[in-house]
Amino acid sequence: MKELLIATGNSGKIRELTALLAEMEITIRSLKDFPDLSQVIEDGNTFAENAVKKALAACKATALPVIADDSGLLVDLLDGRPGVHSARYAGDDAGDEANNKKLLAELAGSPMNLRTASFRSVIALCLPDGDCVTFSGELKGIILEAASGSGGFGYDPLFMVPEYGKTLAELPMEIKNRISHRGRAFAALKEYLLLERKSNA
Ligand code: IMP
Repeated sequence: MKELLIATGNSGKIRELTALLAEMEITIRSLKDFPDLSQVIEDGNTFAENAVKKALAACKATALPVIADDSGLLVDLLDGRPGVHSARYAGDDAGDEANNKKLLAELAGSPMNLRTASFRSVIALCLPDGDCVTFSGELKGIILEAASGSGGFGYDPLFMVPEYGKTLAELPMEIKNRISHRGRAFAALKEYLLLERKSNA
C-alpha cells in the first residue's frame, strides 16, 4: 500500500494519525486533499457501523484504500452516554466547550469513585474492492469536576488517566497517542498492515 486516505478533516486527528503512521512509508492523504467529498451522516448505532460507512463512502469516491475512525466517550453513570453521540452531545452545532459543560452538569454531585468512563475507538480499513476490516481500542479513566490542560481536543481536559494522574489534555501527544483508544486501535491496524506487507513481499 503506497497511499492511504484518512477519512477525516479534523486537524487534531490528522496530526495524531499521521504521527502514528510516520514510519510506514505510506503517503497519507486526508479529506483536506478532497474538499469536494460530501460529508457522511454518522447515523449508525455503533462506532463500527459509522467507521465502515465513512471509509466505504470515501473509498468509492477516490478509489484509494481508506481508513476511517469513529470514537466517543462512554460514561458509566450515564449508561454509556454520550457514546456514538459524543460529537453532538449538547446539540447539532455544539462544540467541545458546550459538550464538556453538559457532561459536567450531568455528573454534578457525583462522587469521584463513580465518575468512571472510557474512550472507545473503532478504525475501519476499507479497500477499493469493498473489503473492510475493523480494529478497536479502549482507554479507561475518570471524569474530573473541572477541566484541566490545553492539549488534545474534545473531552480531553475532563478525562483523567489514573496511571498518570493527569488529563489527556495535560499529557504530551506522544503519550496520548500511545495509550489512547485511537492509539490502541491504531496499533492493531499497524500490526495488520505490517503483516500484510510481509506476506506480499
Ligand atoms: P469522532 O466521531 O471519532 O470524530 O468522535 C466523536 C467525538 O468523540 C469527538 O467530537 C469528541 O467529542 C469525542 N472524542 C473522540 N476521541 C476523542 C479524544 O481522543 N479525546 C477527546 N474527545 C474525543
